[in-house]
Amino acid sequence: MVTFEELGLDERLVQAVTEMGYVNPTPIQEKAIPVLINGTKDLIGLAQTGTGKTAAFGLPLLQLLDAEQKYPQALVVCPTRELCLQIVNEIVSFKKHIKGLQVVAVYGGASIVMQIKDIRRGVQVVVATPGRLIDLIERKAINLEQIKYVVLDEADEMLNMGFQDDIEFILQNTPARESTWLFSATMPNEIRKVSKRYMTEPVEITVGTKNTSNKNIDHQYYVTSAQHRYETLKRLIDFNPGIYGIIFTRTKVDAQNIAEKLTREGYDIDALHGDLTQPQRDKVMNQFRDRSLQLLIATDVAARGIDVKEITHVINYELPDDVEVYTHRTGRTGRAGSTGVAISIIHQREAYKLKQIEKIVQSPINKMEIPSGKDVCRKQFFFFMDKLLNADISHGDYETYVPMLEEKFADVSKEEVLKRVAALEFDRFLKYYENAGDLNARAENRNERRGDDKNRNRNDRGNFRESGRREGGRDSRDFQGDTTRLFINIGTKDGFYKASFLQFILDMSDLRKDVLGRIDMKEMNSWVEVDKNAAGQMIRALDGKNFKGRKIRMNDADSGGGRRR
Ligand code: AMP
Repeated sequence: MVTFEELGLDERLVQAVTEMGYVNPTPIQEKAIPVLINGTKDLIGLAQTGTGKTAAFGLPLLQLLDAEQKYPQALVVCPTRELCLQIVNEIVSFKKHIKGLQVVAVYGGASIVMQIKDIRRGVQVVVATPGRLIDLIERKAINLEQIKYVVLDEADEMLNMGFQDDIEFILQNTPARESTWLFSATMPNEIRKVSKRYMTEPVEITVGTKNTSNKNIDHQYYVTSAQHRYETLKRLIDFNPGIYGIIFTRTKVDAQNIAEKLTREGYDIDALHGDLTQPQRDKVMNQFRDRSLQLLIATDVAARGIDVKEITHVINYELPDDVEVYTHRTGRTGRAGSTGVAISIIHQREAYKLKQIEKIVQSPINKMEIPSGKDVCRKQFFFFMDKLLNADISHGDYETYVPMLEEKFADVSKEEVLKRVAALEFDRFLKYYENAGDLNARAENRNERRGDDKNRNRNDRGNFRESGRREGGRDSRDFQGDTTRLFINIGTKDGFYKASFLQFILDMSDLRKDVLGRIDMKEMNSWVEVDKNAAGQMIRALDGKNFKGRKIRMNDADSGGGRRR
């Protein structure tokens, strides 16, 4: 295996990564680092998040910069605030042994005044989200005249979020740019176009196969009925006592409700969703990072850009509508060589979706039995025994207590002591699982299941009815109920595809896919058919909100609204 020294890195950088616990370079680092430090101008790195991209560009940048010169020389542009902060944190660790190098993070939602002050102090590396960077450029608060290196990180995600114009603007406003390094998990045409326009004969490096999920992930699914979904989630958490995981829900309301319920039942969990203020969000993230929270429950939009190490499990409380979202969610585990488990709790009707997902992730998704109450107790018991055996008693002054303990337990046998310790830990589980039922939806339960479906249809869908062709997706829906056609001033120009647009409006409005009818997307605007009863909620959630520095307009398309308002 190659070492960091052999890649040609400065010894101060090698020392820093060694202290960070990196032993060997990851494949993208092995390929990119030597190429970049030897003066390659332009580079395209095709790699998923979690492959070690930050070090692949961060270490060469630090080696190439001139620490004597106190002006911005390198610019890293990335899609989200979280990613921005992660990149800065890593770069700060990498530069630990290099004097005089400063790095700053600029992103929206935080004081621009403080960021301007930081920039004025003299920084060599700026890590920025596109919107805030443009704001700074327009205020003439940042000087990009002498930027030599521009890194575009998660380029496809930036385009998906509608930042194409901003990225081009940034590339056009870095006149001294010598090198452009673009990293992306996928290579849509828009990115090819950007690379053709702004890069010269880029070296292309690919790690893994594009669009595939990580091979270190064990994909599993559990089939249950709608009314047992929560119970199944709880059982799966209990069956994995050491779990450190993220649960994904489709809606904010689900995330919040489940977090509250599980907290009441004694689990270390909190929710991350779009209604949180930035300080609330930071608090939850910090608690999760330092592991005071064992579980995080999140919607897709809220979880964007989260990179937390050593996530053991990702749980899909419900399957996402979009297959790509599945890859995104589950890619949060099995990172940097470790293994992870991706669990989906599904309804029998959703099995067809798994077939599509298997094709994309190029890995089987294995059907698993939801464990019985007994299985859970046994698993917890073994976990507890290991914990007991491995308890660290080297730090406390336990010896002093031994005589007291011996005296107190003089008449109690070792077996008794063990039983009592176990009782303390297990009473909750044994009582709870004593009469626990089977949560698996089985073929012989078909009638019962049909009953569930009927109820669910009645409850969730109002008087809507789906047309027979389920796999045809949303356009094949044949609504019987009244729909309202809504206009929105967002279109394909904003970087959305139909699936990502759908996910966006549903996440923003906290509605379920079932309320949607036909979606008609044009370049600048779109029209969405929505259940009449849900239209108001969607308008209230979206109209007037900010998207990419622009005000979203949404209104009833057929009541004099439309384009004009
Ligand atoms: P990234 O793709 O840059 O977000 O990195 C994913 C995670 O892997 C981060 O938490 C890094 O700290 C970690 N990482 C990156 N490179 C290595 C390496 N060579 N050895 C071990 N961990 C690494």
